Order: sequence, then structure tokens, then C-alpha cells
Amino acid sequence: MPAGTVSSTGIAGLTLGGGVGYNMRRFGATVDNLLSCKVVTTDGRKLKASKTENSDLFWALRGGGGNFAVVTEFTFQAHQAGPLVGAGVVLFQLDDAKDVLTKLAVHMKTAPRPLQVIAALVPTPPMPGIPPEYYGVYMLSLVCVYTGDLALLDETIGALTALGAPAAVAVGPAPWVAVNSMLDAAAPYGRSVHTRGGYLSALTGSAIDAAIASARHAPAPSVPGPSTVQNIWFMGGAISEDFAEDSVAFSREGAEVFWEGVSQWDSDEEGPRFIEWADNAADALSAEMRANGYVNLTTDRGPEWLRGLYGSAAKFQRLIEAKTKWDPQNLLRFNKNIKPASGG
Ligand SMILES: Cc1cc2nc3c(=O)[nH]c(=O)nc-3n(C[C@H](O)[C@H](O)[C@H](O)COP(=O)(O)OP(=O)(O)OC[C@H]3O[C@@H](n4cnc5c(N)ncnc54)[C@H](O)[C@@H]3O)c2cc1C
Repeated sequence: MPAGTVSSTGIAGLTLGGGVGYNMRRFGATVDNLLSCKVVTTDGRKLKASKTENSDLFWALRGGGGNFAVVTEFTFQAHQAGPLVGAGVVLFQLDDAKDVLTKLAVHMKTAPRPLQVIAALVPTPPMPGIPPEYYGVYMLSLVCVYTGDLALLDETIGALTALGAPAAVAVGPAPWVAVNSMLDAAAPYGRSVHTRGGYLSALTGSAIDAAIASARHAPAPSVPGPSTVQNIWFMGGAISEDFAEDSVAFSREGAEVFWEGVSQWDSDEEGPRFIEWADNAADALSAEMRANGYVNLTTDRGPEWLRGLYGSAAKFQRLIEAKTKWDPQNLLRFNKNIKPASGG
């Protein structure tokens, strides 16, 4: 089932926000594959929410986060993929990143749905097939996952290696269960994390320039490893085309890519400069960012940000109505909070 890219991430919060990952271009967001939830309401009732039962609650749960009820069980639509899929990394020098990202943005518009590419500007982590001299060097990593016909893997990845002169190519068949956790090493459980992000209507030249400049100004970590990373994810395919904007609370309208800047650190003294880096990297892109977005991509930016996040004013009004009905006292408020009409 379509979920996230790091296997320690909590499935409840990920799903209730929307859920993006390697399979979204093929099967949609996690919420697009949610069939029903069992919940405990804030007044203590146990209910089911689905398209046919408490459908207003089910709509709001699919993107509105933990604002409406406590979910105790999720039922998802699974899909056939694997057991072997194609996955790995195509690595380019940072000096080539502008050219490669410009061509990649064009390529992904018509790329096959089973291909997802996360273009990461990051100090290269130790990975099988990557020459050790690149470890810790800031480069452009195209993290690729291809769940289609493996007979087409070489051709599919060949189109990516042809975007420039790769420093290394380490893509091949691997079991899906291994691929599903291949980025765990880049986000070790237990570190402090600060995330900023948003949707872009297009991956423009100025957005690429801003991201590369932020990579060049990233603070050096006290321990080796990917402590600063910018990920550019490609929408398109199922997540953009197969599910209507109003079908769930999660918004996707107009987003061709999304960008996220993530910093990770270990000691309290390191925190401020890593937080500042991610904030500055996001601010450098703010003129290009759409108002709508994915709630889990960013730390809470306040009520105005939240109002824009779900797309149209009508969608946000629908969320307020659900909140007013299901949590009129705003008991569930330690979150990216949608307030009931009474103010809670
Ligand atoms: C290393 C890392 C990698 C990530 N990668 C991805 C990714 O690939 N794709 C993606 O989509 N997101 C990703 N995320 C973001 C992720 O979706 C959010 O951090 C999400 O909130 C994690 O879910 P959680 O269950 O840990 O939520 P928490 O942080 O515990 O909670 C988030 C919100 O959901 C509410 N909540 C949690 N559980 C329930 C429940 N059972 N019922 C009602 N409300 C509940 C909480 O009250 C809170 O408001 C990543 C995050 C990290 C740290």
C-alpha cells in the first residue's frame, strides 16, 4: 500500500495527513487508498468511518490530521507490486545539478507511473554501489524506485542517466521490503528533526538555483551523515490525475512537484543553526510556493498557513464543519489545529 519512505514513520499521523511516497505516482496518496477507519469520538463513541458510514468524518480524516477523532484501526487498499522492484541511486556532481534538474523536470512529465524519483540535494550517505570518495560530499542523488516490468528497468533508468554525466549509478532489482526501508539510514530514528516544505506549480530555473544555493550554504554537521537535505518529489500520474481535489481533505491541486528541506541534529547546541538553515532554504523558495500543500511536510506555520493548505475556502469550511460536529470542544487541539466554529 502506498505509504512513506522511512519505515519508522508512524502510519497513523502519516495517513491522517495524506501520505506520500514511492508509489504515489502509480497508486495515489495513502489517503486515496484508505477504505475505512475505526474511531473513538471525543464523546467516547466507537464508530466506523467510510464512504458509506459517517462519510463527512471519513472525508475530513483523509488529510485533516488528528483533528476529529482517535483512529484505532485503518483498512487500506493494497496493490500488487514486486516482490522484486528496481531501486537505487543515480548520483551527479553538484555542479551538474542545475542542468540535470532542469531536464528531469521535463522528463518526469511523461515518465511512466511506476517510476518515482526523489531528487535529493544531500551529503552522499554510504550506500552500496557508491564509491567511498563520494561519502559526505554534497551531490545530487536521484533516488529511484521503479515498480513496473523489470524487463524495462534498464531503459527506464537509462533515461535518467542520460540526463547528464553521472558520477555513479547504483540501481538494480531488489526486494520491495528492502527498498521500503532503504532510506532509513538517512533518517536514523531518534534524532531531532526540523522540516519545511511546500508545493511548487513547476520546478523553475529560479527554484532550482535557490535550492542549489541552500545546499552550498548548509552547515557542516558535527557527525558525518545527511544532516541537511532538500528533497524534490515529483507528482503526476495517479496522485495528480486519478483522484479529484475535493474527493478527500488532502490537497494536491496545481502541484507539479513538492520541495522539502529537512535538517537533523543530535545535541541541543546544534539545533538553532540547523533550524535556521531549513527555514532560510524554505524562505528562499517562498515566492514560488503554492498556498495549498501537505500538512505533514512542514512544522506548524500558524492559522493563516493552515487555512491555505487545504486548497479552496470551501474545503476549509467543510473541515471546520466536521470539526464543529465531531470535536466541538476542541479536545484534540495539540496538533495543527482546525478550530470548531465556536472557537473551541
Ligand atoms: C524521518 C521522517 C520521514 C518521513 N517521511 C515521510 C514520507 O515519506 N511520506 C510522508 O507522507 N510523510 C513522511 N514524514 C512525515 C510524517 O507523515 C509525519 O511526521 C507524521 O505525523 C508521522 O506520523 P505519527 O503517527 O508519528 O504522528 P505523530 O507525530 O505522533 O502525530 C501527528 C498528528 O497526528 C495525530 N495522530 C497520531 N496518531 C493518531 C491517531 N491514531 N488518531 C488520531 N490522531 C492521531 C497526532 O495527534 C498529531 O496531531 C516523515 C517524517 C519523518 C520524521
